[in-house]
Amino acid sequence: MAEITESRNFIDAFIQEDIAEGGQYAGQTVHTRFPPEPNGYLHIGHCKALTIDFGTAEKFGGICNLRMDDTNPAKEDTEYVEAIQEDIHWLGFDWGGRFFYGSDYFEQTYQYAEELIQKGLAYVCELTPEQFKEYRGDPSTPAVSPYRDRPIAESLDLFRRMRAGEFPDNRYTLRAKIDLASGNFNMRDPVLYRIRHVEHHRQGTKWCIYPMYDFAHPIQDALEGITHSLCSLEFENHRPLYNWVVEHVSVPHRPRQIEFARLGIDHTVLSKRKLRQLVEEGRVSGWDDPRMPTLCGLRRRGYTPASIRNFCERVGVAKAPNTVEYAFLEHCLREDLNAHAQRVMAVLNPVKLTVTNYPEGQSEVFQVENNPVDPASGTRPVTFSRTLWIEREDFMEQKVGKFFRLFPGNEVRLKGAYVVKCTGCIKDETGRITEVLCTYDPDSRGGDPADGRKVKSTIHWVDAANCYDAEVRLYENLFDDPDPDAAGKDFLACLNPHSLEIRQGCKVEAALAHTKPADRFQFLRQGYFCADVRDSAPGHLVFNRAVSLKDSYKPAK
Ligand code: ATP
Ligand code: MG
Repeated sequence: MAEITESRNFIDAFIQEDIAEGGQYAGQTVHTRFPPEPNGYLHIGHCKALTIDFGTAEKFGGICNLRMDDTNPAKEDTEYVEAIQEDIHWLGFDWGGRFFYGSDYFEQTYQYAEELIQKGLAYVCELTPEQFKEYRGDPSTPAVSPYRDRPIAESLDLFRRMRAGEFPDNRYTLRAKIDLASGNFNMRDPVLYRIRHVEHHRQGTKWCIYPMYDFAHPIQDALEGITHSLCSLEFENHRPLYNWVVEHVSVPHRPRQIEFARLGIDHTVLSKRKLRQLVEEGRVSGWDDPRMPTLCGLRRRGYTPASIRNFCERVGVAKAPNTVEYAFLEHCLREDLNAHAQRVMAVLNPVKLTVTNYPEGQSEVFQVENNPVDPASGTRPVTFSRTLWIEREDFMEQKVGKFFRLFPGNEVRLKGAYVVKCTGCIKDETGRITEVLCTYDPDSRGGDPADGRKVKSTIHWVDAANCYDAEVRLYENLFDDPDPDAAGKDFLACLNPHSLEIRQGCKVEAALAHTKPADRFQFLRQGYFCADVRDSAPGHLVFNRAVSLKDSYKPAK
């Protein structure tokens, strides 16, 4: 068995104990599962669960099932099922053909319920939902359950008639007979089955009784031979019930549930209900809006699988709830793209720069580095001519403060090309600057001036005679409030009205003409950008800013 030495967390430690000699799964293959409910798209919180479920199995040379948790018959859709599979594959995990639906086990689950009745461990109850609440008791008062001693034969008959559809919704429930005085309310004779005359997306109208999650889930795990059922912390109080179920029905396996803390991220919401509301109310363009914390949104924004997996691994597996800075997620992306993204020049707020001493009609080629961090990436040709585009912000008619870029009389280096000296500008009748003027120093080709003059700034530029127009979408946090997900807060009121800025008429260098959707670049001095998978096409380039260059993440000391 593989010995886990690097990055061993508390789950790994439990598992290692379990599979060691004398442990409860000695010699067995570690078998986990990821059980998403197909009622929305996966978000970054799910990635943490995924990384733990698939990643733990991987570490131990085990296997991980993908199971759609469709026990609850509401709001499920094949659109979600397919999207979930696509997202998991994109992240680089695989379930190797072990794809299941929780609803496939309805018949077996039903049979186990009958088994409990026959063992005197479950009974049919006829409290209304309101009475059920009223009779629950409190920490010092046991619950009251008047139908607890219903004879086995009578419960069995009623349960079969519940299945046969003889009763309306909520008329009866099936309850486990455990402990009405338990300090854990989940053990106070919990409901196992309820009547709901609702069509199921895969089972149709076959069923009008549905098992509760707490009953169905351990059975599904056990039937699939799961050894370790890893889930988030809200199920901790349900673990005694999980254990009770696998102990008292004759399932072939006894899985072990281990809980970990959910991931929270600031400036975002990680609840499918809230994310769905953003989509349905048109607050964002869809589940894959690049501002969404969904996997498809992050992917469209420009996130790489490596950056997300790396983020989840570095966030770690802990028992204590953790909220992580969104800035840390961005930091992980920046690290990955810094190492791998090709550098190009793009001007997002263009103004013309005319090199007045450069002959009209002339053009020359410079070789510019593709990625200085990766010398193997080589160089590419970039053309230069008399008319260029530069950023409007790189020129000031009157220099203010520590501004070292273009202003009349000052020199700057044009990245990879010449040193130029600003000589003035031209304005239209409204006073708006339409053109900046400069002269170039032919003796500074590709580097510093020959006489050793020092030039403080280097700016990016694009050859106006050889460039393409592009639309660029600049994003900020979807929520400006750091904690929009807080209980009781109106998360819609926390939306950032400036989370999307669209710039038309940006100028990008010729190398970008053949950009394919999802290609990623560093736009020099601007950030990392990704060609939009929906809207970008040759002749209509659209780029999303994945992340800016400025890193606001400060690691804790
Ligand atoms: P939501 O609250 O967004 O609807 P959920 O828990 O209902 O989430 P499921 O589809 O049931 O969504 O989740 C599948 C798995 O992902 C579960 O095991 C759940 O514990 C886990 N999970 C969901 N959100 C997070 C999170 N923020 N951090 C860690 N794990 C999560
Ligand atoms: Mg859930």
